[in-house]
Amino acid sequence: LLLLAIETTCDETGAAILEGPKPPAEGVPRILSSVVSSQIGLHKRFGGVVPEIASRAHVTQVLPMIDEALRRAGVGLADLGAVAVATRPGLVGALVVGLTAAKALALALDVPLIAVDHLEGHLYACQLAFPDRQVFPCVGLVVSGGHTSLYHCRGPLDCELLGGTVDDAAGEAFDKVASLLGLGYPGGPEVERAAKAGNPRAYAFPRSFLHDDRLAFSFSGLKTAVLYAIRGPNQERGPVQPSPAAIPDLAASFQEAVVDVLVAKTRQALKQTGLKRLGVGGGVAANARFRQRLAEMADRIGVQTFIPPASLCTDNAAMAGIALIKLAAGQTSDLDVDVAAGLVRPGKKT
Ligand code: ATP
Ligand code: MG
Ligand code: FE
Repeated sequence: LLLLAIETTCDETGAAILEGPKPPAEGVPRILSSVVSSQIGLHKRFGGVVPEIASRAHVTQVLPMIDEALRRAGVGLADLGAVAVATRPGLVGALVVGLTAAKALALALDVPLIAVDHLEGHLYACQLAFPDRQVFPCVGLVVSGGHTSLYHCRGPLDCELLGGTVDDAAGEAFDKVASLLGLGYPGGPEVERAAKAGNPRAYAFPRSFLHDDRLAFSFSGLKTAVLYAIRGPNQERGPVQPSPAAIPDLAASFQEAVVDVLVAKTRQALKQTGLKRLGVGGGVAANARFRQRLAEMADRIGVQTFIPPASLCTDNAAMAGIALIKLAAGQTSDLDVDVAAGLVRPGKKT
């Protein structure tokens, strides 16, 4: 069965074609094509995603991306057996663009429409990346621009939230600190690059909740600590400008503080649940230092780690291939299904 998957939750317009077994048969779908049109260039000068600009760019990009995904997979619209789209969480104006395209195609082609959760998709990317291995049940860690959350995943569609950030997400912290350091947007890759030449122990930045039993994260104090470190003792106010020589050490020390907390809390979730597998998703999982430290920790305690390649960590449509699991379970959507911008609170299911 051929699935068209669409992603427009934030600032990347994505389309993908996946091939999976015809329900009721089950199996990990294969990615035939996956294309992403990033809006980074449009949002760069604002230092963050501008929702209205994002919506408009999705409108112009969604059909070209679908065409390109079909072309690269060597299939036509008539070959499709289902259409999937991420309907939550995300920017409401961005979400409706993908959903409207998906509804129109599902109606016109008379095939099932399947609404998927973007965060479940980020975690399912692990299974797509390692099709021959069993990823679930596992501890799931989503570290992205909007989320920093740990889940107890009994299966791809059964993830219970164990805890998350009380303020900024890890990716958001990378973006904000990059901006403080005068680096480009998005901040994650820029901070990672600057950190390579720096000393991770140059600054003693805070590690929130490190010795707390709760599975919670907080990154806003860390961001403020970086700000104070840049300002130094004599600059109460005024523009903040780090000396160029200090940037690598600031970046490396910040990155190390984030990684320390992410690794420690993930370890705590693994201990608490007793699970022996770990799946990681979201843009921050593209960070090489984080991947290395997490893998070392998991190895030490005998846990198998699944982290997709960077292209499947940041936003993409292929991860909406989780729709084929939903289809096999009979979980299709009606044409009046709506988007949901909202976040999920601790204790609630995704
Ligand atoms: P969400 O998935 O929560 O809705 P999102 O879709 O915006 O948010 P992603 O696209 O998954 O998030 O990830 C983007 C984030 O990942 C950005 O904050 C970016 O700075 C961060 N990021 C990307 N690459 C790296 C990297 N190499 N190191 C650290 N952070 C990174
Ligand atoms: Mg993005
Ligand atoms: Fe995302």
